Amino acid sequence: MKTATETWGRLSAVRAGKGRVTIAFAEDSEQLQEIIHWSKVHQAILLPLGGGTNLVGSDGELPLVCLRLAENIGHGFDRDGEIVKVRCGEMLSSLLYRCAGAGLGGLSSLFGIPGTLGGALAGNAGANGHSIFEYVVAVEGIRLNDGTPWKWREADGGWSYRHSPVPADVLLTHAEVRFSQCDSQAEHLLLREIATRRRKSASPFPSLGSTFKNPDQGDPAGRLLESAGCKGLSCGVFVVSEHHANWIVNPSKEIGSASDYRQLVEKMRHRVEEHSGIRLVEEVRFVDDMV
Ligand SMILES: Cc1cc2nc3c(=O)[nH]c(=O)nc-3n(C[C@H](O)[C@H](O)[C@H](O)COP(=O)(O)OP(=O)(O)OC[C@H]3O[C@@H](n4cnc5c(N)ncnc54)[C@H](O)[C@@H]3O)c2cc1C
Repeated sequence: MKTATETWGRLSAVRAGKGRVTIAFAEDSEQLQEIIHWSKVHQAILLPLGGGTNLVGSDGELPLVCLRLAENIGHGFDRDGEIVKVRCGEMLSSLLYRCAGAGLGGLSSLFGIPGTLGGALAGNAGANGHSIFEYVVAVEGIRLNDGTPWKWREADGGWSYRHSPVPADVLLTHAEVRFSQCDSQAEHLLLREIATRRRKSASPFPSLGSTFKNPDQGDPAGRLLESAGCKGLSCGVFVVSEHHANWIVNPSKEIGSASDYRQLVEKMRHRVEEHSGIRLVEEVRFVDDMV
């Protein structure tokens, strides 16, 4: 079993978490089963790790091991007409760009979301009023508690805004995604325009994108946070961005503590609740809550 040890802050895109964690790499399905067996024997929880772009690490030593799909089982895709079967370790935006090159488009609204396809499916990532599950025909994975297969089909439903039908104990391995035919040149141009737009509005500092989900009705989270005076609030190295009140950024780029990050999240939530009576729900994931 190939493993490495890393500080959480190096795995989390906002550099949150001072504790250390072991990462196990699965290079084929046999190794994956070996890791699952090992985790049962050692009573360790396995956490699938994508790009870490939505994860707040931990300051402590948790009974948890991160699981990463190595290149040969995590990456690659096959095309069957407009349906593309993709391995879940693929980076979402790079996948969309390469599919555009093969004349497959239609998912441009999701272009620029950082991280892997697996991470996007786990949180039903989305942008511009669309989310990934709108385009998904089928998903396959493995239950990490017993190594048995897990499957989802379009007709099963169960997804909504930033809510995924994928149970927390499933490692996603493959998804079938429905594209539509496009002109490669025009789609590439569109994707590059979207990337430029996102770059212009993005923070130059490490972050996890939006901290909170938008409430079902009324003002979006960013507006509620701004009205409640959250911009500029800070805790440790983490600061509420002056660009967008729903972003927590780390201008120092130093590793910060997960507890500082959490305190800032709670401060923001409290301010909004006091100001507008709305209790925001976070979009970012805390590994401390997964054990
Ligand atoms: C600058 C910036 C902008 C962002 N913009 C957006 C946006 O526009 N829209 C949006 O929705 N999000 C956005 N995000 C958040 C983030 O990019 C998405 O949530 C992304 O889909 C997370 O993917 P990841 O691979 O990094 O997942 P990770 O952060 O590694 O993991 C997130 C969760 O997914 C699970 N997971 C990862 N891989 C798998 C797998 N193979 N099987 C099962 N579970 C898995 C993890 O266990 C964890 O619970 C942004 C983040 C940043 C930093």
